[in-house]
Amino acid sequence: MLSFSVQTHDHDQMLDITEQVQQALDRSGIRQGAAIVYVPHTTAAVTINENADPDVAHDILHDLDRMVPWEQQAYRHDEGNSAAHAKAAMVGHSVTVLIDQGRLRMGRWQGIFFCEFDGPRHREVHVQFLSGV
Ligand code: ZN
Repeated sequence: MLSFSVQTHDHDQMLDITEQVQQALDRSGIRQGAAIVYVPHTTAAVTINENADPDVAHDILHDLDRMVPWEQQAYRHDEGNSAAHAKAAMVGHSVTVLIDQGRLRMGRWQGIFFCEFDGPRHREVHVQFLSGV
């Protein structure tokens, strides 16, 4: 397993980590297979979406905020960040990307995004490469 750190700068943020994952793949030397990208946090997540237009990430964060408001009377978790936990649960903690000829085999408009929901914070990302044919 390989790991790298990310520093988020906003309370809610989608950070493109595609290049860091590709660099980890380069270091692994694996040419064919799959990459599992895993976020070991309860108030952050990882997803794949468009990285060509930054407004897409902005709009996703806006939609999540609308679905899961930060303040709600019904919340019981006394740390006060239930919305961040809920968003992380909705988005998920891992993505799988296929590897072809040493490259992440992604769509032209796709990027891997670290999703911060209770930042800014120093975070970790784990990547496990599975070798295949
Ligand atoms: Zn909490």
